[in-house]
Amino acid sequence: MTLKQIARKLFLIAILMFSIGVFVVRNRTLVAQNNPFSQYKCDIPVTYAVGTVDQRFGVSQEKFVSLMQEAEQKWESALGRDVFRFESNGRVKVNLVFDDRQSTTESLKKIMTDIDTGKEKTDQLASNYESLRTQLEQKKKVFETQATEYGKSAKAYEGAVQNYQADLKKYSQEVERWNAQGGATEEAYNDLLKEKKKLDAQLKDLKKQESDLLSLHNTLQKKQTELNDLVAKVNATAGTINQIAGKTNSKVSDYNQTQEDRGEFETGLYTNDRGTESIDVFQFFDDQDLLAILIHEMGHALGMEHTENQSAIMYPKLINQSVAITADDLALFQTTCVR
Ligand SMILES: [Zn+2]
Repeated sequence: MTLKQIARKLFLIAILMFSIGVFVVRNRTLVAQNNPFSQYKCDIPVTYAVGTVDQRFGVSQEKFVSLMQEAEQKWESALGRDVFRFESNGRVKVNLVFDDRQSTTESLKKIMTDIDTGKEKTDQLASNYESLRTQLEQKKKVFETQATEYGKSAKAYEGAVQNYQADLKKYSQEVERWNAQGGATEEAYNDLLKEKKKLDAQLKDLKKQESDLLSLHNTLQKKQTELNDLVAKVNATAGTINQIAGKTNSKVSDYNQTQEDRGEFETGLYTNDRGTESIDVFQFFDDQDLLAILIHEMGHALGMEHTENQSAIMYPKLINQSVAITADDLALFQTTCVR
């Protein structure tokens, strides 16, 4: 009556290492040309119109006009006066000029979308992973408790088997001893019968214990299979997370590298070529970005130059997408108007 030892397997769980860092370099230079033909632009509103809009920007005419009007509004509400007027034949032509700057930005936007998707996926999987691990820990605990119980019962059973075997040996020796003497006395015979009954009862009990142990053994084996399946699932989830995180991280590197490679560049330009005024916009990430560029370049159309204050809209670099017109911008406007 040998009982099998249940093999204990080690639960190996892959260590998750996903750190996704997005470092976005977004310094863009806004370059203004000095306007030698500058004139007072404070009393008569500057008229502007849509010039050439390259369809590759994916911005509709209506959207473009509404953003220009929003830029106008920003200036006018800050200044408290009418300084711009949108006219179909306006003097300053506002153009969307498509080249590798915007096409690079489109590639970056695509990478960014992939990064966001990757992050969403890893977040979802990480939450699955956590719940699977919790489930695993709970099941492991139950399994271990039952396995300990099984071990105790098995030991008790082995002890009972040994006792039974010792009692049986004693009984057999007694029977042999009496047989050698040609038979037992009636009293001894009755004692032996009693002893035999006791032994039979012991054996019956042992068989019951054995069957209980076997059934517990089967239950434990089933649970262990379940546990191993769960471990495989946990590990597979971790593997998938690491794989997606790795791909996402490499996209983050691509993104950062592309940003670093192109460095600073012009996103918008106001020019006045012998009275022909235009604003060219070369690159923007989104509407807010485009609006910030329009406000800045329209400031140049008012005759304003740059300021050193980083938070001002007339600062030469677009550091964040702030579209706020600051006290510094207003002071600049005053200086521009009285010169
Ligand atoms: Zn500028």
